[in-house]
Amino acid sequence: MKVEFFRHNIDEEDKKRVLDVLDSIFLTTGSVVAEFETEFSRYVGLPFTVGMTSCTAALHLSLLAFDIGEGDEVITTPMSFCATSNAILHAGARPVFVDVERDTGNMDASLLESKITDRTKAILPVHLYGQMCDMREIRRIADMHGLIIIEDAAHAVESERDGIRVGHLADAVCFSFYATKNITSGEGGAVAVHDAQKAEVLRMLRAHGIDKTAGDRYTKKYQHWDMPLLGWKYNMDNIQAALLIGQLHRIDALWQRRKMLWDLYRRELSDCRAVELMGERKGARHAMHLFTVLAGGDRRDLVLSSLQDREIGVAVNYRAIHLLSYYAETFGYRRGDFPVAEEIGDRTVSLPFYPKLSEEELMRVVRNIREVA
Ligand SMILES: *Cc1c(COP(=O)(O)O)cnc(C)c1O
Repeated sequence: MKVEFFRHNIDEEDKKRVLDVLDSIFLTTGSVVAEFETEFSRYVGLPFTVGMTSCTAALHLSLLAFDIGEGDEVITTPMSFCATSNAILHAGARPVFVDVERDTGNMDASLLESKITDRTKAILPVHLYGQMCDMREIRRIADMHGLIIIEDAAHAVESERDGIRVGHLADAVCFSFYATKNITSGEGGAVAVHDAQKAEVLRMLRAHGIDKTAGDRYTKKYQHWDMPLLGWKYNMDNIQAALLIGQLHRIDALWQRRKMLWDLYRRELSDCRAVELMGERKGARHAMHLFTVLAGGDRRDLVLSSLQDREIGVAVNYRAIHLLSYYAETFGYRRGDFPVAEEIGDRTVSLPFYPKLSEEELMRVVRNIREVA
Protein backbone atom coordinates (compact mmCIF):
# COMPACT_ATOMS: atom_id res chain seq x y z
CA MET A 1 0.00 0.00 0.00
CA LYS A 2 1.32 3.38 -1.04
CA VAL A 3 1.96 6.05 1.57
CA GLU A 4 0.23 8.96 -0.12
CA PHE A 5 1.99 12.33 -0.14
CA PHE A 6 -1.23 14.03 0.99
CA ARG A 7 -4.79 13.14 1.94
CA HIS A 8 -7.41 15.80 2.69
CA ASN A 9 -9.66 15.94 5.72
CA ILE A 10 -13.11 16.48 4.27
CA ASP A 11 -15.57 14.69 6.60
CA GLU A 12 -19.30 13.89 6.61
CA GLU A 13 -20.18 17.22 8.20
CA ASP A 14 -18.36 19.08 5.41
CA LYS A 15 -20.15 17.04 2.76
CA LYS A 16 -23.47 17.82 4.44
CA ARG A 17 -22.70 21.56 4.33
CA VAL A 18 -21.94 21.30 0.60
CA LEU A 19 -25.18 19.37 0.00
CA ASP A 20 -27.10 22.12 1.82
CA VAL A 21 -25.65 24.66 -0.62
CA LEU A 22 -26.48 22.41 -3.59
CA ASP A 23 -30.05 22.11 -2.29
CA SER A 24 -30.29 25.90 -2.04
CA ILE A 25 -30.87 28.24 -4.96
CA PHE A 26 -27.66 30.22 -4.56
CA LEU A 27 -24.32 28.68 -5.55
CA THR A 28 -22.02 31.66 -6.05
CA THR A 29 -20.73 34.30 -3.59
CA GLY A 30 -23.44 34.73 -0.96
CA SER A 31 -24.31 34.14 2.68
CA VAL A 32 -22.10 31.03 3.10
CA VAL A 33 -19.05 32.96 1.88
CA ALA A 34 -19.96 35.78 4.29
CA GLU A 35 -20.24 33.25 7.14
CA PHE A 36 -16.83 31.79 6.28
CA GLU A 37 -15.28 35.26 6.05
CA THR A 38 -16.65 36.20 9.49
CA GLU A 39 -15.39 33.00 11.11
CA PHE A 40 -12.02 33.19 9.38
CA SER A 41 -11.58 36.82 10.51
CA ARG A 42 -12.25 35.71 14.07
CA TYR A 43 -9.73 32.86 13.79
CA VAL A 44 -6.89 35.00 12.43
CA GLY A 45 -7.80 37.96 14.62
CA LEU A 46 -8.15 40.52 11.82
CA PRO A 47 -11.36 42.49 11.20
CA PHE A 48 -11.93 41.82 7.47
CA THR A 49 -11.55 38.75 5.25
CA VAL A 50 -12.35 38.65 1.54
CA GLY A 51 -12.75 35.17 0.01
CA MET A 52 -11.09 34.56 -3.36
CA THR A 53 -10.62 31.73 -5.84
CA SER A 54 -6.95 31.30 -4.88
CA CYS A 55 -4.04 32.72 -2.92
CA THR A 56 -2.54 33.82 -6.24
CA ALA A 57 -5.66 35.94 -6.83
CA ALA A 58 -5.51 37.26 -3.26
CA LEU A 59 -1.87 38.32 -3.70
CA HIS A 60 -2.57 39.89 -7.10
CA LEU A 61 -5.52 41.95 -5.83
CA SER A 62 -3.76 42.92 -2.59
CA LEU A 63 -0.96 44.45 -4.65
CA LEU A 64 -3.51 46.32 -6.81
CA ALA A 65 -5.47 47.48 -3.75
CA PHE A 66 -2.29 49.13 -2.46
CA ASP A 67 -1.64 50.77 -5.86
CA ILE A 68 1.38 48.66 -6.67
CA GLY A 69 1.98 48.23 -10.39
CA GLU A 70 3.99 49.37 -13.40
CA GLY A 71 7.43 50.71 -12.48
CA ASP A 72 7.28 49.47 -8.87
CA GLU A 73 9.54 46.92 -7.20
CA VAL A 74 8.39 44.38 -4.62
CA ILE A 75 10.98 42.55 -2.53
CA THR A 76 10.24 38.86 -2.08
CA THR A 77 11.88 35.46 -1.68
CA PRO A 78 13.12 33.02 -4.32
CA MET A 79 12.33 30.12 -1.93
CA SER A 80 8.57 29.83 -2.51
CA PHE A 81 6.03 28.54 -4.98
CA CYS A 82 6.21 30.61 -8.19
CA ALA A 83 2.71 31.99 -7.43
CA THR A 84 4.31 34.49 -5.05
CA SER A 85 6.46 36.28 -7.60
CA ASN A 86 4.03 35.59 -10.46
CA ALA A 87 1.41 37.67 -8.60
CA ILE A 88 3.86 40.59 -8.55
CA LEU A 89 4.28 40.23 -12.31
CA HIS A 90 0.48 39.98 -12.79
CA ALA A 91 0.20 43.34 -10.99
CA GLY A 92 2.69 44.81 -13.48
CA ALA A 93 5.45 45.28 -10.90
CA ARG A 94 8.92 43.74 -10.71
CA PRO A 95 9.83 41.06 -8.17
CA VAL A 96 13.20 41.68 -6.51
CA PHE A 97 14.53 38.61 -4.73
CA VAL A 98 16.39 38.57 -1.45
CA ASP A 99 18.17 35.42 -0.24
CA VAL A 100 16.91 33.35 2.68
CA GLU A 101 18.10 32.12 6.08
CA ARG A 102 20.04 28.85 5.84
CA ASP A 103 18.22 27.11 8.68
CA THR A 104 14.58 28.16 8.08
CA GLY A 105 14.42 29.06 4.37
CA ASN A 106 12.61 32.28 5.30
CA MET A 107 13.46 35.73 3.88
CA ASP A 108 16.69 36.96 5.51
CA ALA A 109 15.67 40.29 7.07
CA SER A 110 19.32 41.31 7.48
CA LEU A 111 19.69 41.47 3.67
CA LEU A 112 16.48 43.45 3.05
CA GLU A 113 17.83 46.98 3.19
CA SER A 114 20.46 46.26 0.53
CA LYS A 115 17.58 45.59 -1.92
CA ILE A 116 15.59 48.78 -1.28
CA THR A 117 15.66 51.36 -4.10
CA ASP A 118 13.62 54.47 -5.03
CA ARG A 119 11.21 52.14 -6.81
CA THR A 120 10.59 49.75 -3.92
CA LYS A 121 6.94 49.88 -2.84
CA ALA A 122 6.37 46.71 -0.84
CA ILE A 123 7.82 43.65 0.86
CA LEU A 124 6.17 40.27 0.26
CA PRO A 125 7.45 37.70 2.79
CA VAL A 126 6.48 34.02 2.69
CA HIS A 127 6.21 31.99 5.91
CA LEU A 128 7.90 28.91 4.53
CA TYR A 129 6.48 25.52 5.55
CA GLY A 130 4.43 27.29 8.26
CA GLN A 131 7.20 28.99 10.23
CA MET A 132 6.82 32.76 10.43
CA CYS A 133 9.44 35.19 9.18
CA ASP A 134 10.84 37.80 11.58
CA MET A 135 7.86 40.13 11.12
CA ARG A 136 8.89 42.56 13.86
CA GLU A 137 12.16 43.25 12.04
CA ILE A 138 10.54 43.31 8.59
CA ARG A 139 7.89 45.78 9.84
CA ARG A 140 10.59 47.97 11.38
CA ILE A 141 12.46 48.15 8.07
CA ALA A 142 9.24 48.70 6.09
CA ASP A 143 8.26 51.62 8.37
CA MET A 144 11.70 53.21 8.02
CA HIS A 145 11.29 53.25 4.24
CA GLY A 146 7.51 53.77 3.98
CA LEU A 147 6.83 50.34 2.46
CA ILE A 148 3.68 48.22 2.35
CA ILE A 149 3.85 44.62 3.63
CA ILE A 150 1.77 41.88 2.02
CA GLU A 151 2.29 38.46 3.61
CA ASP A 152 2.02 35.20 1.69
CA ALA A 153 0.59 33.00 4.45
CA ALA A 154 -0.37 30.08 2.19
CA HIS A 155 1.43 27.78 4.67
CA ALA A 156 0.67 29.73 7.81
CA VAL A 157 -3.01 30.06 8.82
CA GLU A 158 -2.16 28.90 12.36
CA SER A 159 1.19 30.67 12.82
CA GLU A 160 2.39 33.02 15.54
CA ARG A 161 5.85 34.34 16.43
CA ASP A 162 7.20 36.72 19.10
CA GLY A 163 3.61 37.30 20.27
CA ILE A 164 2.49 38.31 16.77
CA ARG A 165 -0.16 36.37 14.83
CA VAL A 166 0.25 35.93 11.11
CA GLY A 167 -0.74 39.06 9.19
CA HIS A 168 -1.02 41.31 12.23
CA LEU A 169 1.99 43.46 11.28
CA ALA A 170 1.14 43.39 7.56
CA ASP A 171 -1.08 45.63 5.46
CA ALA A 172 -2.65 42.53 3.88
CA VAL A 173 -2.18 38.79 4.44
CA CYS A 174 -3.06 36.15 1.85
CA PHE A 175 -4.08 32.53 2.41
CA SER A 176 -4.49 29.47 0.17
CA PHE A 177 -7.08 26.72 0.36
CA TYR A 178 -5.53 24.79 -2.53
CA ALA A 179 -5.91 20.98 -2.59
CA THR A 180 -2.89 20.19 -0.37
CA LYS A 181 -3.08 23.05 2.13
CA ASN A 182 -3.90 22.70 5.84
CA ILE A 183 -7.55 23.50 5.17
CA THR A 184 -8.78 23.13 1.61
CA SER A 185 -11.62 23.62 -0.82
CA GLY A 186 -9.70 22.14 -3.75
CA GLU A 187 -9.09 25.64 -5.06
CA GLY A 188 -9.62 28.74 -2.93
CA GLY A 189 -7.96 31.60 -1.12
CA ALA A 190 -8.56 34.70 0.97
CA VAL A 191 -7.04 37.99 1.98
CA ALA A 192 -7.39 39.51 5.45
CA VAL A 193 -6.88 43.22 6.13
CA HIS A 194 -7.13 45.72 9.01
CA ASP A 195 -8.75 48.46 6.96
CA ALA A 196 -12.48 48.56 6.07
CA GLN A 197 -11.93 50.64 2.93
CA LYS A 198 -9.29 48.27 1.59
CA ALA A 199 -11.66 45.36 2.24
CA GLU A 200 -14.33 47.17 0.21
CA VAL A 201 -11.91 47.75 -2.68
CA LEU A 202 -10.85 44.08 -2.55
CA ARG A 203 -14.51 42.99 -2.64
CA MET A 204 -15.03 45.05 -5.77
CA LEU A 205 -11.75 43.95 -7.38
CA ARG A 206 -12.67 40.27 -6.96
CA ALA A 207 -15.88 40.82 -8.98
CA HIS A 208 -14.92 42.89 -12.05
CA GLY A 209 -14.83 46.16 -10.09
CA ILE A 210 -18.64 46.16 -9.84
CA ASP A 211 -20.15 48.08 -6.92
CA LYS A 212 -23.07 45.68 -6.18
CA THR A 213 -22.65 41.98 -5.51
CA ALA A 214 -24.60 39.09 -6.99
CA GLY A 215 -25.84 38.56 -3.43
CA ASP A 216 -27.25 42.11 -3.33
CA ARG A 217 -28.97 41.52 -6.65
CA TYR A 218 -30.42 38.27 -5.34
CA THR A 219 -31.57 39.35 -1.87
CA LYS A 220 -32.71 42.88 -2.68
CA LYS A 221 -34.85 44.48 -5.34
CA TYR A 222 -32.98 44.98 -8.63
CA GLN A 223 -30.77 48.06 -8.68
CA HIS A 224 -28.54 49.23 -11.50
CA TRP A 225 -24.90 48.65 -10.74
CA ASP A 226 -21.84 50.57 -11.83
CA MET A 227 -18.26 49.53 -12.54
CA PRO A 228 -16.07 52.28 -11.05
CA LEU A 229 -12.83 50.35 -11.58
CA LEU A 230 -11.46 47.48 -13.64
CA GLY A 231 -11.45 44.30 -11.55
CA TRP A 232 -11.02 40.56 -12.06
CA LYS A 233 -13.15 37.43 -11.62
CA TYR A 234 -11.72 36.01 -8.44
CA ASN A 235 -14.73 35.59 -6.10
CA MET A 236 -14.98 32.60 -3.75
CA ASP A 237 -18.33 30.77 -4.13
CA ASN A 238 -20.73 29.26 -1.57
CA ILE A 239 -19.62 25.69 -2.37
CA GLN A 240 -15.97 26.44 -1.59
CA ALA A 241 -16.97 28.28 1.59
CA ALA A 242 -19.19 25.36 2.68
CA LEU A 243 -16.20 23.00 2.41
CA LEU A 244 -14.04 25.29 4.55
CA ILE A 245 -16.30 26.18 7.49
CA GLY A 246 -16.15 22.78 9.22
CA GLN A 247 -12.39 22.45 8.64
CA LEU A 248 -11.96 25.85 10.26
CA HIS A 249 -13.88 24.58 13.31
CA ARG A 250 -11.48 21.60 13.50
CA ILE A 251 -8.33 23.55 12.64
CA ASP A 252 -6.72 23.36 16.08
CA ALA A 253 -7.43 19.63 16.44
CA LEU A 254 -5.91 19.05 12.99
CA TRP A 255 -2.87 21.09 14.08
CA GLN A 256 -2.52 19.01 17.29
CA ARG A 257 -2.48 15.80 15.27
CA ARG A 258 0.14 17.22 12.87
CA LYS A 259 2.23 18.35 15.86
CA MET A 260 2.30 14.81 17.21
CA LEU A 261 3.43 13.48 13.81
CA TRP A 262 5.92 16.35 13.38
CA ASP A 263 7.56 15.62 16.75
CA LEU A 264 7.69 11.92 15.91
CA TYR A 265 9.38 12.56 12.53
CA ARG A 266 11.93 14.87 14.16
CA ARG A 267 12.67 12.42 16.94
CA GLU A 268 13.04 9.48 14.56
CA LEU A 269 15.20 11.38 12.08
CA SER A 270 17.34 13.31 14.58
CA ASP A 271 20.18 10.77 14.46
CA CYS A 272 19.88 10.04 10.73
CA ARG A 273 23.08 11.59 9.40
CA ALA A 274 21.99 11.24 5.77
CA VAL A 275 19.36 13.98 6.06
CA GLU A 276 19.28 17.36 7.77
CA LEU A 277 16.22 18.79 9.54
CA MET A 278 15.14 22.43 9.14
CA GLY A 279 15.76 24.84 12.01
CA GLU A 280 12.98 26.09 14.27
CA ARG A 281 12.73 29.49 15.94
CA LYS A 282 11.91 29.63 19.63
CA GLY A 283 8.85 31.54 20.86
CA ALA A 284 6.85 30.62 17.80
CA ARG A 285 3.82 28.56 16.87
CA HIS A 286 4.79 26.70 13.69
CA ALA A 287 1.80 25.96 11.44
CA MET A 288 3.52 22.70 10.44
CA HIS A 289 2.29 22.67 6.87
CA LEU A 290 5.09 20.77 5.08
CA PHE A 291 7.60 18.40 6.64
CA THR A 292 10.80 18.72 4.63
CA VAL A 293 14.33 17.37 5.04
CA LEU A 294 17.54 18.27 3.24
CA ALA A 295 19.19 15.35 1.49
CA GLY A 296 22.98 15.13 1.47
CA GLY A 297 24.97 16.85 -1.30
CA ASP A 298 23.69 15.97 -4.76
CA ARG A 299 21.65 12.94 -3.65
CA ARG A 300 18.25 14.65 -3.63
CA ASP A 301 16.93 13.40 -6.96
CA LEU A 302 18.10 9.87 -6.15
CA VAL A 303 16.26 10.02 -2.79
CA LEU A 304 13.10 11.26 -4.55
CA SER A 305 13.25 8.49 -7.09
CA SER A 306 14.06 5.73 -4.59
CA LEU A 307 11.25 6.75 -2.22
CA GLN A 308 8.77 6.74 -5.11
CA ASP A 309 10.00 3.29 -6.18
CA ARG A 310 9.17 2.18 -2.64
CA GLU A 311 5.60 3.54 -2.89
CA ILE A 312 6.17 6.65 -0.81
CA GLY A 313 4.73 9.91 -2.08
CA VAL A 314 7.16 12.85 -2.16
CA ALA A 315 7.28 16.44 -3.44
CA VAL A 316 9.79 19.27 -3.78
CA ASN A 317 8.93 22.56 -2.09
CA TYR A 318 10.65 24.29 -3.85
CA ARG A 319 13.36 24.62 -6.46
CA ALA A 320 14.51 28.26 -6.33
CA ILE A 321 12.22 30.50 -8.42
CA HIS A 322 14.96 32.58 -10.06
CA LEU A 323 16.33 29.48 -11.81
CA LEU A 324 12.99 28.56 -13.45
CA SER A 325 13.35 29.15 -17.20
CA TYR A 326 10.99 32.12 -17.45
CA TYR A 327 12.68 34.00 -14.59
CA ALA A 328 16.21 33.13 -15.68
CA GLU A 329 15.51 34.17 -19.28
CA THR A 330 13.41 37.28 -18.56
CA PHE A 331 15.57 38.72 -15.79
CA GLY A 332 18.96 37.18 -16.56
CA TYR A 333 19.26 35.32 -13.25
CA ARG A 334 21.98 32.72 -12.93
CA ARG A 335 23.06 30.05 -10.52
CA GLY A 336 24.99 31.75 -7.73
CA ASP A 337 22.65 34.78 -7.49
CA PHE A 338 20.85 33.49 -4.35
CA PRO A 339 23.09 30.69 -3.10
CA VAL A 340 21.19 29.82 0.08
CA ALA A 341 17.84 29.45 -1.72
CA GLU A 342 19.64 27.40 -4.36
CA GLU A 343 21.13 25.05 -1.80
CA ILE A 344 17.75 24.43 -0.14
CA GLY A 345 16.14 24.12 -3.58
CA ASP A 346 18.71 21.52 -4.65
CA ARG A 347 18.46 19.44 -1.48
CA THR A 348 14.90 19.66 -0.17
CA VAL A 349 12.51 16.69 -0.07
CA SER A 350 8.94 16.95 1.29
CA LEU A 351 7.69 13.83 3.05
CA PRO A 352 4.11 12.58 3.50
CA PHE A 353 2.61 14.76 6.23
CA TYR A 354 -1.10 15.27 7.09
CA PRO A 355 -3.42 14.42 9.99
CA LYS A 356 -4.62 11.16 8.41
CA LEU A 357 -1.05 9.82 8.11
CA SER A 358 -0.83 6.88 10.54
CA GLU A 359 2.13 6.37 12.86
CA GLU A 360 2.83 3.06 11.08
CA GLU A 361 2.97 4.86 7.73
CA LEU A 362 5.27 7.51 9.19
CA MET A 363 7.62 4.83 10.53
CA ARG A 364 7.67 3.19 7.11
CA VAL A 365 8.74 6.53 5.59
CA VAL A 366 11.48 6.84 8.23
CA ARG A 367 12.77 3.28 7.62
CA ASN A 368 12.90 3.87 3.88
CA ILE A 369 14.74 7.17 4.25
CA ARG A 370 17.34 5.48 6.39
CA GLU A 371 17.82 2.92 3.62
CA VAL A 372 17.95 5.25 0.61
CA ALA A 373 19.27 8.62 1.78
C1 LIG B 1 0.03 27.16 -2.62
C2 LIG B 1 0.84 28.42 -2.54
C3 LIG B 1 0.48 29.58 -3.22
C4 LIG B 1 -0.63 29.61 -4.23
O1 LIG B 1 -1.84 29.27 -3.72
P1 LIG B 1 -3.08 29.08 -4.73
O2 LIG B 1 -4.25 29.11 -3.81
O3 LIG B 1 -2.87 27.77 -5.41
O4 LIG B 1 -3.05 30.22 -5.67
C5 LIG B 1 1.18 30.74 -3.01
N1 LIG B 1 2.25 30.75 -2.19
C6 LIG B 1 2.67 29.65 -1.55
C7 LIG B 1 3.83 29.75 -0.64
C8 LIG B 1 1.98 28.44 -1.72
O5 LIG B 1 2.41 27.33 -1.12
